[in-house]
Amino acid sequence: ARQRLKNQVAIVTGASSGIGAGVAKALAADGAAVVVNYSSSSAGAEKVVQEIKDDGGCAMAIKADVSQEDQVQRMFSQVKDQFGTFHILVNNAGLQKDAAFVDMTLDQWQYVLGVNLTGQFLCAREAAREFIRRGVQPEISTAAGKIICMSSVHELIPWAGHANYAASKGGVMLLMKTIAQELAGYKIRVNSIGPGAIKTPINHEAWETEEAANQLLTLIPYNRIGEPRDIGEAAAWLASDESDYVHGITLFVDGGMTLFPGFRANG
Ligand code: NAD
Repeated sequence: ARQRLKNQVAIVTGASSGIGAGVAKALAADGAAVVVNYSSSSAGAEKVVQEIKDDGGCAMAIKADVSQEDQVQRMFSQVKDQFGTFHILVNNAGLQKDAAFVDMTLDQWQYVLGVNLTGQFLCAREAAREFIRRGVQPEISTAAGKIICMSSVHELIPWAGHANYAASKGGVMLLMKTIAQELAGYKIRVNSIGPGAIKTPINHEAWETEEAANQLLTLIPYNRIGEPRDIGEAAAWLASDESDYVHGITLFVDGGMTLFPGFRANG
């Protein structure tokens, strides 16, 4: 395997399942030591850590709820105690609490915004503070640090029944772009990944029956549902110096979902 991230430490939030687990494994396969953050599933996190170790990589699990400032700060200081510093943050933790707009409770709204948007703010702020303190280590990377935000095609495509989720991802888009603009002078590189439909627990009802999967495929010109490793590959590239001139973008990894396939001519 390539070792583009050798001697680098990466923190991946919400890495005990789904896309986060795929990203953690891809970064580890590329040479990074990976912190597998989780909020509740220590078994899931330990499984990911073990898979990375079995593959010859380096990983450890740390528990923290990304929506809680004290827990986030504790996690980042644990990482610094353990590794001295870190170079890559993947802001992946996220969830859905779906409801028709008129039925959506304030709790449902605040819960999703708290994890998906405030969680990304809290983690990115801690990362930026450390990257600015440490600066560039030219033998390790041309950037002082890399922040990758897990957004969604729903930073672009409105999504009925998911106003809280779509608002959180729209927020992530301008959070990412604003901190990319603000932190570029420190040589901190900030980008997002916008996954389309990826097979994970978050959306299992959309792909686990054949009927649902076929319905979903009508939205995907490339005609397959994505896998966590598709996002892992994109994250490893965005974290590496191969993408050194890529800054402030959302890289959609979606099999063409953002091509608005509903506008294809019939027949
Ligand atoms: P998932 O449910 O498998 O993973 C989400 C992870 O976040 C879980 O490990 C969960 O434990 C963790 N998490 C939830 N709340 C947390 C908190 N407060 N603190 C720390 N961790 C927390 O789903 P996934 O599909 O892998 O989602 C990962 C990210 O990808 C999310 O941000 C999601 O919005 C985004 N995404 C997913 C898809 C898709 O099709 N699966 C598409 C677009 C974007």
